[in-house]
Amino acid sequence: LAENPLKQYSKRPGTFVSLPSDGKFYTVPPEMSADGEIEIRPMTASDEIKLKNPDGLMNSESLFQVIEHIAPGIANAKDIPTPDLDIIVIGMRLATYGQFMDVNVTCKNCSHTENYQINLSNVLASAGKITAPDKVNVGGLVVSIRPHTTESNTMYSNYQVELLRAARMVETNVMENKEPLNKQLAEIMAKGSQILYEIAMNHVTSVMMPDGNSITDKSLIKEWLADLAAPDYQLVRDAVNALSKEQIDRNVSFHCTQCETENKVEVSFDPANFFGASSL
Ligand SMILES: [Zn+2]
Repeated sequence: LAENPLKQYSKRPGTFVSLPSDGKFYTVPPEMSADGEIEIRPMTASDEIKLKNPDGLMNSESLFQVIEHIAPGIANAKDIPTPDLDIIVIGMRLATYGQFMDVNVTCKNCSHTENYQINLSNVLASAGKITAPDKVNVGGLVVSIRPHTTESNTMYSNYQVELLRAARMVETNVMENKEPLNKQLAEIMAKGSQILYEIAMNHVTSVMMPDGNSITDKSLIKEWLADLAAPDYQLVRDAVNALSKEQIDRNVSFHCTQCETENKVEVSFDPANFFGASSL
């Protein structure tokens, strides 16, 4: 089959970004340049359509598909540590629309809204690396951990949806007989705690015993986690959270032209907000 002669006209240069993880923690390590960077290509129109959602809710499946398209060096978008995800998403914005991104910022004193231009190259250049320990000692065992991933983040959102469902059920309940409600609530809570266990399991890659033998079998790790004392479980969770810490600076400072107040605000790099009011 002959190559489409139009193809040479649609190739656009991408950009290269350095990952906070340096490619660590992935099941399949990403393809990196000699400088340890990954390539990010500009979004195509079809990528953009996938991210534009009429109800404003980001569909994680669509985001995963787009990321695997624009970052061909990443085999599985669900596997991306969350500190890397921020960088990839900002790189995607930069490769597609250039280094400047306009956001609306609101003065905390007078509520005046101004336009602020963020330099995405600076945000990427000042991003940190993951330096927290990836091992934690729990009662004589050395537990190897990895950060939150795009997948565990999605699972956590699902858990929060379950909790909201339970809360709404309690709120709207006017039944005399509480038994059916209690049963339903117990089911929802059980489902929620199951999700939390799945997430925890996702974050433990191996457990080394004092004799030097390592356990990597997921079902054995799951059983061990389920039996873990609450304070020990907390140790693992805190270590995973430290490892997952965001490595970009979201704070911008701006001077309000209306009331002269100096403001510090946090900006979001959520891809759902990338397109502003532009429409199809
Ligand atoms: Zn103001």
